[in-house]
Order: sequence, then C-alpha cells, then structure tokens
Amino acid sequence: MIEVIEKLREEKIAFSTDREDLIAYCKDFNPLHQLRILKKTPPALPEIVVFPKSIEELSKVLKIANEFRVPVYVFGGASGVIDSATPYEGGIALSTLSLDWIEIDEENRIVTTGAGVIGGRLEKMLNHRGFSLRHIPQSLFCSTVGGWVATASSGQFSTGYGNIEDLVVSLKVVLPSGEILEERRVPRRAGVDLKKLFFGSEGLLGVIAEVTMKIFELPREVAKLSFEYESIESALGDAKRFLKFKPALMRIFDDEESLRYFDSEAFSLIAIFEGENAKRVAEKARSASMGREVEGYTDIWLEKRFDVSEISKIGVLGFVFDTIEVSCFWGSAPKLYKAVIEAIRSVEGTVTASAHASHFYESGLCFYFTFAGFPAEPENYYEEVWKKAITASLKSGGNLSHHHGIGRLRRSWMRDELGGYLELLRGIKNLVDRNNVMNRGVFP
Ligand SMILES: Cc1cc2nc3c(=O)[nH]c(=O)nc-3n(C[C@H](O)[C@H](O)[C@H](O)COP(=O)(O)OP(=O)(O)OC[C@H]3O[C@@H](n4cnc5c(N)ncnc54)[C@H](O)[C@@H]3O)c2cc1C
Repeated sequence: MIEVIEKLREEKIAFSTDREDLIAYCKDFNPLHQLRILKKTPPALPEIVVFPKSIEELSKVLKIANEFRVPVYVFGGASGVIDSATPYEGGIALSTLSLDWIEIDEENRIVTTGAGVIGGRLEKMLNHRGFSLRHIPQSLFCSTVGGWVATASSGQFSTGYGNIEDLVVSLKVVLPSGEILEERRVPRRAGVDLKKLFFGSEGLLGVIAEVTMKIFELPREVAKLSFEYESIESALGDAKRFLKFKPALMRIFDDEESLRYFDSEAFSLIAIFEGENAKRVAEKARSASMGREVEGYTDIWLEKRFDVSEISKIGVLGFVFDTIEVSCFWGSAPKLYKAVIEAIRSVEGTVTASAHASHFYESGLCFYFTFAGFPAEPENYYEEVWKKAITASLKSGGNLSHHHGIGRLRRSWMRDELGGYLELLRGIKNLVDRNNVMNRGVFP
C-alpha cells in the first residue's frame, strides 16, 4: 500500500487514510452493517479511500491497483442494501463522488453526468429547467447515477417510464485495466449493445464513469386515483386492467401496509397518470375499476415517499428491519405474495411482514416485502428470514431480486437466477479483470 500511496501522490490524485473516511467507506445500507456500526465493530475497513475527479484519474487509479494487485471496492452513495462493496479484503475504497459534472442538453432531451452525481441534486437542477429524469428511487437523495446503473435500479415512476436500463442512452466505462470505453452517443445504437453488461454489474466488471440519460418535460397535467379492495387478487386485477391506460405510477399496498400508510384495513391501490390528457385517461381508468374509490391516498403516499425515519428509530432499539423485492409473472403473483409472507412469519422473532407491489409490466410485477423482527440472535434471524423468503419466491415462480441487486447477500442463489449465463459472466469477469481487483470476494 505504501507504493500505491506514493503513486497516487505522484499523480496528484486525492486520497485519504483518515479513520473517519475509512469508517465512512466500510459499509453500505445493509441492516446488519448498521447494527455493527452501532456496536462500534465496523464490518471491514479499507486501507485508503481514493477520490478521482476525472475519467483520466479514475483510469490511473485502476492501473495502479492492477500494478500492485490491490483490491478496489467501488462506492457511489453507499445506499445499496446488499453488502456488495464492503471492503472485506482491505485495499482501496474508490469513491465516485468527485465525478460530479452535469451537462443538460435540452434540445436533444438528454443529460450527461459524472457517475458520482447524487440523484436528488440532478433532479432538482432539471426541475428548475422544467425537466425531470422520471427515475425517482426512494433513495434519490443518497444514491448516485453510476450506482443506479451498477445495481439496475428502479424508480417510483418505472411503470410509466421504465427502469434505469430503459432510460440510459450511453455510458462511459473504465475497465479494471484502466482502459476507457466510450461509444457513439445516439438515440439507438447499432450492433451488439455491450453497455448492457454494466447494468447490474455491481462494480465487478469496471467503473461506470459517465452516464447519458433521457430527460422528460415535467408533466403539465397530472391525475391521481386511489381504491380499496377486499383481497390481493382484486387489487391485482385492477392493476392489470389499468395498465392499458398507461399510468406513470401504480402501487398496491396489502392490508398491513394500508394500515400503516392510510389507517385502512383493506388492500389499496394508488395510481398517477401524467401527460396532456391525464384527467381524461384517469376518468376511463376509474370507470374500468372494480374497486371502491377512496380520497387522497395518493397524496398521503406522495408526502411520505422519501421518509425512512422509522428504520433509523427501530434499529437502535434492537429491531432487525429489511426489505426483499422480487419479480414474478401475473399468474404467480397471489401465490407468491402469500408464500413469502408466510415464510417470513414462520421465523421466530418476526414482529411484522407485509408487502406492496410497486413496478408493473405487461407480463408481471414486482412485490416488495418488508419485515421487522425483534430476535434474540439478530444475525441468525436475518439469515433465516432471507433463506426462507427467497426459497419461497423461487418455488412460487418469483425470482431473486427486482432492483436491489445481488451482492454478497444473495450470491448463493445466483445460479438459480442466471442458470448457464453464470459461467458466461464468470468468463467475462476473468477476461476483463485478470487480476481480480474489482469488488474482490463478491462474485461467487
Ligand atoms: C432508504 C432506501 C431506499 C431505496 N430505494 C430504492 C429504490 O426506490 N429503487 C432502487 O432501485 N433502489 C433503492 N435503494 C437501493 C439503492 O439506493 C440503490 O441500489 C442505488 O442504485 C445504489 O446507488 P449508490 O450510488 O448508493 O451505490 P452504492 O451503494 O455505493 O453501490 C452499490 C453497488 O454498485 C457499485 N457501484 C456504485 N457506483 C458504481 C460505479 N460508478 N461503477 C461501478 N460500480 C458502481 C458498488 O460497487 C456496489 O456494488 C434504496 C436504498 C435505501 C437505503
């Protein structure tokens, strides 16, 4: 590491070995990490944190790491929840936060940013000019644009506008060797679209350095609807019916989450329509609904949508809290919902298990389960809940993750998800990262 530090000094690349910085870069938002920080036993410490501020500096850092075979753990906003960049093998924590440029191109409806730009800052800048990304994850204010690509993120408006892979126009990437990859920036490219390799790559194949994304005019007309139902099946039925009216956002809350949000014991659905004829379209959706219309649920949710203060309050009291999001086809949805809730509740120590459905497709949807427990052994409890919930999802036609990613948390099920593609991915990893410097220890 002494040689690494000397080289970084020679290249005038900013770095820190201060304990405060090492602690800031020892974890992500995984609940067990929070627990360890509270106990003053951080999960793992890097030896150095490096802050490249240009793509050239980033490339030099990776070349230096390769020369000395030092592991590199990539950090954006560290809002990930899957234990994916924790520097268990020490080495370099590479912060992208100084890759922070923003160029808005209103004429072509695109924005190009450094990978370390925090989403909330970008969205606010766009809003001032009458635009929006329409990629609004709940973590908007603590996650980066590069992190969104690396985790294959989904925003709250994904039903209308798509997930991050639908919104990105082009990427600049630095391979582990330091080689900089750039493609022609066009609305639709020719040939094999290899940038897709980097969606969900979780820092294993290189560093996403710059991202060009679509931007949208802020909607002039917005219409909101909310309904209640007696069962998950009837709520799902309406969601499927509403898809033909192209809602920008839809969410179904089960009875437990409805109680938390709206003080209601029913299942509920909220929908937002955007665009020139939003009110007229919403009127059609209202006529098609089989639910009981209720007032104001959408506004209540909009007000609370970034509020995660509950998590920080219950963590210090000894509660273990986490979320598990999976996707499934419509045909499996009711069975999967019931099976996963039952699996979580079957683990001793569980206090609550609930779900909402938050991203919808012609063919299916994402269920987002939330659990909290007050167990005697938090780590064992956590492992047990995850094991049972993912097994239940896989058995009921669901998958491993919809948008949080895989990381160390879910890597043991990677073959279930990728099948034979896992070997192809291993081959690509070995090819581009010959010295295995990137996020070492994460790939199974
Ligand atoms: C309260 C809360 C709400 C959340 N809500 C949502 C949500 O609505 N939708 C959603 O999709 N996710 C959500 N998440 C999860 C998280 O915010 C996302 O996964 C986000 O995309 C991570 O971005 P980040 O910049 O924080 O990445 P980090 O946590 O820093 O990194 C995540 C992974 O990506 C890699 N990585 C980061 N930047 C780069 C880069 N430039 N190049 C290569 N690899 C990189 C890291 O090595 C790591 O493996 C939420 C998390 C929290 C805590």
